[in-house]
Amino acid sequence: MSLIRLAYASEASFSPNPDHSGVEPHVARILLASRRNNARQAVVGGLYYGNQRFFQYLEGEEQAVRAVYDRIRVDDRHHNVKILLEEPLRQRTFDNWSMKYVPLADDVQRMLQRHGLTDFEPDRFDRQLCEEMIAVIRDSNAVDRLINGQAGPRGGNDEIFTPGIRRGLVLAGVTLVAALAVGGTLLLP
Ligand code: FAD
Repeated sequence: MSLIRLAYASEASFSPNPDHSGVEPHVARILLASRRNNARQAVVGGLYYGNQRFFQYLEGEEQAVRAVYDRIRVDDRHHNVKILLEEPLRQRTFDNWSMKYVPLADDVQRMLQRHGLTDFEPDRFDRQLCEEMIAVIRDSNAVDRLINGQAGPRGGNDEIFTPGIRRGLVLAGVTLVAALAVGGTLLLP
């Protein structure tokens, strides 16, 4: 069994149509399928989408990575798929994610600026930029979570409580008010 890593760049075939929270529905669906499938095959890595371009990094068992990539490259949601890096890997570098997603562009913008670039055009990345992009994805804390098919960055949009806990708190509040009302009535002369 041998490990490999593979990075490619591609162009989205869909027109940008983000929902009210800035999430591109096509990308959210791709991430859902990626996480479901890649976790099963222990393929890990990361996906970045910006400027209508994709950069994806995959690592895992050679057979599994190639099977995933063979599905990806014929997907009509993108085109001009170009392999940037494909080589053996001694040990895994991503531990806990089936497919990490970096929705915030700040880190990537800083990386582009360091190289005097203005636009995200991963098909033009050389090896150095590829490695930096992989490092940005690996190190990023700005990992999104997919909740009910919706992707959202950690931070600004974060809710402190889950909907279940919120419902519980509302119910507890209503019960408390009712108990106080009943208690107050009993205390009345
Ligand atoms: P399905 O259950 O067939 O589909 C999953 C979801 O995607 C469904 O909501 C379905 O409606 C929708 N969908 C599927 N194909 C299309 C299509 N052509 N157009 C519009 N909607 C569609 N798959 C992975 O398994 N791992 C990856 O890392 C991965 N990365 C991707 C990166 C990019 C940039 C793109 C474009 C696709 C990627 N995919 C990835 C998706 C992959 O190309 C296949 O669609 C997917 O693997 C099929 O898996 P499935 O049969 O389980 O999904």
